[in-house]
Amino acid sequence: MYQYKEVSTGKYVLSLNNHVEIAEALTAFCLEKGILAGSITGLGAINEATFRFLNPAVKSYVDKTFAEQMEITNLTGNISQKDGRPYLHLHITASRSDYSCIGGHLLTARINGACELLVEDFGAACTLGRRFDPETGLNLYDL
Ligand code: FE
Repeated sequence: MYQYKEVSTGKYVLSLNNHVEIAEALTAFCLEKGILAGSITGLGAINEATFRFLNPAVKSYVDKTFAEQMEITNLTGNISQKDGRPYLHLHITASRSDYSCIGGHLLTARINGACELLVEDFGAACTLGRRFDPETGLNLYDL
């Protein structure tokens, strides 16, 4: 599903395998390394992705799937924990064949090419939880 190298303490360079789904692979990596607090940055190429848009007025989500080749111009995210498991919050910007960009909250994205990431583990001493916030309808950081 991925190869990785710990380049300095708690910092991992990852190369995800072709055709893997990114959120699934990142969750598997966090489970393998026991990462429950951290940050993620990356780039790559995908050919199918589902983005989410939150309409704050009605606290409802609109999900949309794009089935086309795109470059990930930026993938950024954070890792916290909810119910003792890694909780990933990922956002993405991707460019289309006409060089325009689309983006959003990332639900799923399938690699078609490569995906190269840096995952930083904040360490076991850092606890970052989540709590549901009724005002926004979001699972916000519980700091
Ligand atoms: Fe989000």
